[in-house]
Amino acid sequence: MTRALGITFDKVNKWYGRMHVLRDVSFSVAPGEKIVVCGPSGSGKSTMIRCINRLEEHQSGTITVNGVEVNDQRRNVDQVRRQVGMVFQNFNLYPHLSILDNCTVAPRWVRNIPRAEAEERAMHYLERVRIPDQAHKYPSQLSGGQQQRVAIARSLCMQPEIILFDEPTSALDPELVREVLDTMVSLAEDGMTMICVTHEMGFARQVADRVIFMDRGAIVESAAPDDFFRNPREERTRLFLSQIL
Ligand code: ADP
Ligand code: MG
Repeated sequence: MTRALGITFDKVNKWYGRMHVLRDVSFSVAPGEKIVVCGPSGSGKSTMIRCINRLEEHQSGTITVNGVEVNDQRRNVDQVRRQVGMVFQNFNLYPHLSILDNCTVAPRWVRNIPRAEAEERAMHYLERVRIPDQAHKYPSQLSGGQQQRVAIARSLCMQPEIILFDEPTSALDPELVREVLDTMVSLAEDGMTMICVTHEMGFARQVADRVIFMDRGAIVESAAPDDFFRNPREERTRLFLSQIL
């Protein structure tokens, strides 16, 4: 097998019990590409991206990350998780740890990076998301937008090649969305490979190389943003766009 870089899905299927939640999902993401995934609630978007780092397991088909198959082998899963960062809707910061410690805990305890070096790295990425001054506070002392930027910095501290975002702005008050999107745009400009589940269509137009629309567990449409927004081919896509734009 050739070592395809980036991410590939080949006829991936997943069921929860008898519910078929991913149906023959196939697509690939080249290194440096930015993909936006959208679609109605319950269409399988979270499940799909969670399969990439094996937070969920698929039952048939093949997923690869930089040539490594995502399967039940511990070695493969570890190798994939090293390369893939994830940012969730609800930030998932550790409430009892300071911002700095949130950013150093995995590098120190998973990667065995010495404390001083991990802290230096954390400060670098906290500067990158423009909140170095919050390093010694606790998550509850920060706004939602700041917490989400910490979550992004924390993910960057593991130096992933790929970042997955699962509706990173949908838990935020409207006035805090922009600061998180700006951070994501700046990551995109740095060449990070990104898959973003989001309904922020302005963001999709600005950074996506491709927009994937899912419905009922299947990819219904996949196109460059210009085409996707101007000439959606499928009725279901048109309906969806008419509801969110
Ligand atoms: P989306 O992110 O597009 O809203 P999800 O991937 O969360 O969709 O869910 C896809 C389908 O799978 C939905 O019908 C959802 O109810 C179901 N589902 C998600 N997680 C689980 C789970 N852990 N157990 C059973 N069903 C689930
Ligand atoms: Mg979801």
